Amino acid sequence: MSAEKKPAPKVEPLRKTRPCPECGKPSQREHYPFCSNRCRELDLSRWLSGSYAIPVAGDEAMADGEDEN
Ligand SMILES: [Zn+2]
Repeated sequence: MSAEKKPAPKVEPLRKTRPCPECGKPSQREHYPFCSNRCRELDLSRWLSGSYAIPVAGDEAMADGEDEN
């Protein structure tokens, strides 16, 4: 019977932190890749406002809804 205490295994982060796209602070895992929910929402609102140029077929985007029933 081994009573020797094993050292806690070194836990590696699932993802390396990276600078928040909004403010440059280290990202938090809960808000990855942002540093906070605020920055995430900032990014989202910018995305929704159309600042990001993402080619999306308008018809497909509309057809993705479930408003037929
Ligand atoms: Zn941030």
